[in-house]
Amino acid sequence: MSPYYHTFALFILLLSLPSFPARILQQNDPLTELTADIQNNTWHAFVKFLDAGKGTQVTGMSELKKYFQRFGYLSIPDQNFTDFFDQDLESAVLSYQKNLGLTVTGKLDDETMNEIMLPRCGMSDAAHDHTHSSSLLHTTKNYAYFYGRPRWTKSSPMMLTYSFSPNSMIDYIDASEIRSVFKRSFSRWSSAIPVNFTEADNYSTADIKIGFYNGDHGDGEPFDGVLGVLAHAFSPENGRFHLDAAETWAVDFDDQRSRVAVDLESVATHEIGHVLGLAHSKVKDAVMYPSLSPRTKKRDLKLDDVEGVQALYGSNPNFKYTSSLEHDMSSSKRRTSSLKWTPFFGMVALVFSLCL
Ligand SMILES: [Zn+2]
Ligand SMILES: [Zn+2]
Repeated sequence: MSPYYHTFALFILLLSLPSFPARILQQNDPLTELTADIQNNTWHAFVKFLDAGKGTQVTGMSELKKYFQRFGYLSIPDQNFTDFFDQDLESAVLSYQKNLGLTVTGKLDDETMNEIMLPRCGMSDAAHDHTHSSSLLHTTKNYAYFYGRPRWTKSSPMMLTYSFSPNSMIDYIDASEIRSVFKRSFSRWSSAIPVNFTEADNYSTADIKIGFYNGDHGDGEPFDGVLGVLAHAFSPENGRFHLDAAETWAVDFDDQRSRVAVDLESVATHEIGHVLGLAHSKVKDAVMYPSLSPRTKKRDLKLDDVEGVQALYGSNPNFKYTSSLEHDMSSSKRRTSSLKWTPFFGMVALVFSLCL
């Protein structure tokens, strides 16, 4: 057996190994930009934990532990949280990174810290059942449901009513504009599933009750002022849908120039996903991903959102894949096929080298 054949086989084997994209360093440090631009008293102080490693102690780290506990990554301790970077915190960081599709390092690196400091939805990331990869389609699904997979169970054709709180609204955006924002947000979901939404006048009997609230508003999930937590909504068939009244809500960023403006339609579309029974997705582009940067729009459902909600309610018979969803689908297939072929070529090379 010539040594050249081994070299050749090794070469093929190396070619077939999965490659990982190199980390792209941004010219402007996102941490600096975020903290310089936005005075979010909620989480910007966490920047001091950047690169803190296991075994170290940094004053205030108990606050970071409270953050992880709040979003489902740490259980409540018997005593108060300490400022010590312990094993439990490392496990929390690892599962946070895994859950949010970040590079899994177990360290408070810049990607992780940047994500932690972003404004986000108040719903926990942990209270859900993940749907794992389907062997039939060879695709990995990243959407998730709440425990027990709750959904609305009205008879079909399903009609859900929504209404705005008569006392808890914001006054700097016209009521008619807010109503059209929500109408568009609901219609995105109803185009995917056989569920219709209509606005009702009677708030007390509506299935979905929408309102803007400040701080502690009686449901055990107080809002925290500008940025931080933006909104939350309860799983089926509760219907409560709350937005933080302290945010600078925007319908159009050309009209609302504030640096801390948050796109109302993006948040509305996300929270409706929770109202329907979807939990947080680990797909960064998905509407159901938990964070949303200020002055950013994320309104269109992605394939992951559509597949998740259709698995709960079935497909709207008139549902059509838009060109952006088709693009989403083909790139997910491309990823899958390259993953499938990589071990195949590896095996061929191995068998080839053994036969020589
Ligand atoms: Zn959410
Ligand atoms: Zn609430």
